[in-house]
Amino acid sequence: MPPSKEKALVVLSGGQDSTTCLYWAINRFGRAQTCSVTFDYGQRHRLELDCAANIAEHAGVSNECLPIDTFAALGGDALTDTDIAVENNAVSAGSLPNTFVPGRNIVFLTFAAAYAYQRGIVHLVTGVAQTDYSGYPDCRDETISALQTTLRLGIESDIVIHTPLMHLSKKQTVEMASDLGALPAMALTHTCYEGVRPPCGDCPACVLRAKGFAEAGIPDPLLAER
Ligand SMILES: [Zn+2]
Repeated sequence: MPPSKEKALVVLSGGQDSTTCLYWAINRFGRAQTCSVTFDYGQRHRLELDCAANIAEHAGVSNECLPIDTFAALGGDALTDTDIAVENNAVSAGSLPNTFVPGRNIVFLTFAAAYAYQRGIVHLVTGVAQTDYSGYPDCRDETISALQTTLRLGIESDIVIHTPLMHLSKKQTVEMASDLGALPAMALTHTCYEGVRPPCGDCPACVLRAKGFAEAGIPDPLLAER
């Protein structure tokens, strides 16, 4: 398929999944038609924001960092409240891990849609996935489909939310990154919940990332950096 003349906006967090999506968008829409936004939502690891900027620069697309400073004021999650330690255990039955920031993806995609609207962009790309993850309900296909309907109605736009990773395992996501030529950019990504570089290797995010690369039989470029 030749690159579309239509523009795409990628929600880039600085992590492995959104970076893969950035390359997916470049492949699908063309580099010149792809741009990215990153949300500064008061995340405990400011490193993510630098990573996103570096990845966008590496990929040759623009990146704008937009502030949303309300999540930290809401409290209760380990990603914006530095007094709460990240739960390293698997999710207990019937509950979400304390890394869940309620409504985060819904808010991100709503702001992204508004940003896109002002720039004549209808394609949004996000790295959410419902497989292999922590069970975050705002990453489910059903949530995203409903949100797309809401956004189309609410801002009178033909907005399309693309979720290239929705049904992929972490292994398949790593394979996709490899196929798209995104592996060099993986050295610039940040995944670790502890916010350390090199990554801690023990937190749920590190363990999941390592599992994906191991199953794909591909060395993680971030670890090769050591
Ligand atoms: Zn870690």
